[in-house]
Amino acid sequence: MAITRRDFLTTAAASAGAAMTPDLAHAHEHEHEHQAVPSDPALRVKALESLLVEKGLVDRAALDALVDAYEHKIGPRNGARVVARAWVDPAYKARLLADANDAMADFGFISRQGDRIVVVENTPSVHNLIVCTLCSCYPWAVLGLPPVWYKSAPYRSRAVIDPRGVLREFGLELGDDVQVRVWDSTAELRYLVLPERPAGTEGLSEEDLAALVTRDAMVGVAKVSFPPAKGPNERHS
Ligand code: FE
Repeated sequence: MAITRRDFLTTAAASAGAAMTPDLAHAHEHEHEHQAVPSDPALRVKALESLLVEKGLVDRAALDALVDAYEHKIGPRNGARVVARAWVDPAYKARLLADANDAMADFGFISRQGDRIVVVENTPSVHNLIVCTLCSCYPWAVLGLPPVWYKSAPYRSRAVIDPRGVLREFGLELGDDVQVRVWDSTAELRYLVLPERPAGTEGLSEEDLAALVTRDAMVGVAKVSFPPAKGPNERHS
């Protein structure tokens, strides 16, 4: 189903409303039907867009095409393919960790924000978690648009203050022997977690491996499980 600019703005405004919910877990459960949506963000976006179009600085059709691409065509499956390749191909993994933008370009995944993407590897002794404390910087080219909770104030602040507590709320309990590293994204530098390949997946094809990799695992709020966890792939939309 085609999405209109109005749909997109409504979604954006609803997201902003949910992001204002003070309690992180609460926001997870009710983000779509939560409260009366403040009209401010949608109105501001619309006003800015109208102005840019009026001044001839942007083309409305180009904007719609970009929004459609990130809403429907570019998503976490891109990242999952990169992760699966890194799991089966040590040379690719080395390239990915050394220069992620270059390695991702093998799949045609190009960052259009002009940012550098850095891939950080989870190991049995190190767990990486991604956040943008300032706003919502996110590796769009490989993960698509960020989920509501990623943009929420509670996640952004608590991910750095109490990462283990946040991970616990996502259902991930890490032992004291595991070091947690929190990476704060910026517009110029964005991160992707290379999760650990789960045990028992030795016989799986690259494609089957990619199907196991979730968005949450690539942000670092979950591990990849095998067999896959029951229920929807991502519990937190
Ligand atoms: Fe940001």
